[in-house]
Amino acid sequence: MLQIENKDRFGKVIADSLSKVEQTVTDAKTKTRWIRAIAKAVVEIEENVFMTWQEADKSLLIWSQKSNNIYTSNGVCQCRAFEQGSPCFHRAAARLIRLYLETEDATVQAEEIPYLKPTVQVKAERIAGIRIN
Ligand SMILES: [Zn+2]
Repeated sequence: MLQIENKDRFGKVIADSLSKVEQTVTDAKTKTRWIRAIAKAVVEIEENVFMTWQEADKSLLIWSQKSNNIYTSNGVCQCRAFEQGSPCFHRAAARLIRLYLETEDATVQAEEIPYLKPTVQVKAERIAGIRIN
């Protein structure tokens, strides 16, 4: 089972993905299918214990209880929906996890690089008429 430790960040990834579908998918039917795929992906990520992220090829290994097949998904998939050119939750889930992990890396890096840290506001002080800071 995948551990989503930062729910806020995962929520932001979901919101970004939904807005990307809204902005980039013009066909109404495909748009609805992607939105459903993302919603199902979120539920599966939280509940499906048979999901493993493979960092080497940035793919998600998913056992589907419905079809009893194992899918390995990144931009492509082996399921029937994908064969028919339709959105599937496997690809949606793989994308959500990839983006979630990428933003995690970005956060860690920002904390490690001193000049990317937020500037601390230091108030100028005067001691005995001499301005310090
Ligand atoms: Zn699929």
